Amino acid sequence: MGVRDALLIATGAYSSERLAELRSPAADVVELADVLADPAIGWFQTKQVVDAPAHRATRAIEEFFRNRSTDDLLVLHISCHGVKDDDGLLYFACADTDPELLASTSIPAGFLHAQMGRCRAKSIVLLLDCCFSGAFVPGMKAAIGMDAKEQLAGYGRAVLMATGRTEYAWEGNRFLELEPEPSRFTEAIIHGLRTGEADRDGDGRVAVDELYEHVYERLRESGVKQTPQWSSELVHRVYLANRAISLQSERLSKSGVRIWPQRRARRGQDALILRDISLKDAVTGKVDTISVETAIICGECRGLGTSADSVVERCPRCRGDGLNGEKDCETCTGFGTLIENPCPGCVGDGRVVVRRSIAAKIPAGISTGMRIRLSEQGETGPGGGPAGDVYLEFNELPDDHFERRGMDLHCTTDISAEIARTGGIIDLDTFDGVKKIRISGGVKSGKTVRVAGLGFPRLRASGEVDGRGDLMITVDVRER
Ligand SMILES: [Zn+2]
Ligand SMILES: [Zn+2]
Repeated sequence: MGVRDALLIATGAYSSERLAELRSPAADVVELADVLADPAIGWFQTKQVVDAPAHRATRAIEEFFRNRSTDDLLVLHISCHGVKDDDGLLYFACADTDPELLASTSIPAGFLHAQMGRCRAKSIVLLLDCCFSGAFVPGMKAAIGMDAKEQLAGYGRAVLMATGRTEYAWEGNRFLELEPEPSRFTEAIIHGLRTGEADRDGDGRVAVDELYEHVYERLRESGVKQTPQWSSELVHRVYLANRAISLQSERLSKSGVRIWPQRRARRGQDALILRDISLKDAVTGKVDTISVETAIICGECRGLGTSADSVVERCPRCRGDGLNGEKDCETCTGFGTLIENPCPGCVGDGRVVVRRSIAAKIPAGISTGMRIRLSEQGETGPGGGPAGDVYLEFNELPDDHFERRGMDLHCTTDISAEIARTGGIIDLDTFDGVKKIRISGGVKSGKTVRVAGLGFPRLRASGEVDGRGDLMITVDVRER
C-alpha cells in the first residue's frame, strides 16, 4: 500500500489591489483537511499552506510530488484566484502575486504540470477551486476551465474543478455574510465525504468519479450557476474515502502543530482493524468483541517512564527548550529533559504491550467499506499520553440462503404443490426470525413474492437506521 498524502494550498488575502480578497479559502481548507485526515473517512496525511507567497507555495508543491512511489495516492487542493496571461497560460495567484510578474510571483500551471509529470505516483487527484470572477479586472483575463484541463490533465491524474467555460465561480454572498461562507465547490466535496453521500453506488467507499458526480448534483440542486468540470486519465479506480458511521461524540480535530519542548506524554496512534461480518450480523447489528495487541499505561511508573529512584534533569545542551535551531535537540530528542534511570518495566516509554479485548456495538446496516470509530480504544500514547482511536472497517461475507442486491435481500424457498395451487401461509426463517408469508393461489416456480421492510437496513452517517429494503422470495414448487 502506498501512502495517502494531501496538500491544501489556499490563498484568500492578496497584496495586489487588482486581486480581490477571497474570504473562504482559509476556512475551507481547515475543514477539508479535517475530513481528509479523519481516519474513518480519508486517513490522509495532510499539509496546509495558507496565504503563502509564491516561493513557499511552489516549494511545497515540488516537495509534495518528489520521491514518490507508483502506488501513492496524492491529492492536491488549490483554492485561490486563477489568472491567465496574454498567451493564454494559466497561473494560480499567491499572496504576493504581482499581475505584471506572474511567472515569478504565482504558481504557473506549467510548473505544476511539470512537477506532476515527473512524479512517479500513478494516482494524482487535483481539486481546483479557483475564483475566476475575481480576475475580471482591466488588463487581466480570467482563467477558464477548459484551459485548466488542457494545461493540467495527464496520465494517472484526475482533475476536478470549480467552473466551466462561460460561468463565473461563485463565492457565497460575499458582501452580506459576516462569517466566512465556504465555497460551494469545496463545501460540496466536504459534504460528500463527511456524510458518505458521495458513495453513490453504495459500496461503502467514495471513488473520485463518484465525488465528482456528488459535487455536480449538489451544486445543481442548490441552484448555483456553477458547473464543475472533470477530466480523468486515472489508471484504475481511485478511492478517496470510506463511508464513516459516527456512533460516538464528534472526533476532535487533530492539528499537526508541534510545540517545544515536546511533551513526553503524547497521544497514542490510531489503528485500523479489518473485520469480516456475516450478512445476518450486518442486517441485525451485533456486539462484537475484538482482541487486539495494544499498549497500555505502565503500572510500574504510571506512565512517567522513570524508575522510582530516578531524577529528571533539564537538558544541558538546549537548556530545556528542546530545540536546536528549528529542529529537535539531538541530546534530549526535543523533550528538553533527560531521564537518568528509565523505568525497567517499560524502558522509559511509559507503556507496555498487552493483549486486550474491546467490545464494540456494530449497528444494523453495516456493509463493506464502512468504517466506525471507537474513541480512545487504541493504544495509550508514549509517556502515558491519551489513547488513540480504533477504527473498524467491514467486509461483508456472503450468506448461504440470502443474497443482498442493493437494499433488497433475495432468497429462494420450496413450497408444496398444494400451496402453489390453492395459496396459503408458509413459515420462512429470516434474519428477523420465523415469518408467516402469504402465498397466493396459482403460483408457479420462479414467481417472486415481495415482503416490504424485511430487507437491508439503510444506515445513515449519523448511525441512525432510515428504513429498510424489501425481502424478495422466489418460490420453487415441489412437484410430487
Ligand atoms: Zn514504566
Ligand atoms: Zn536538549
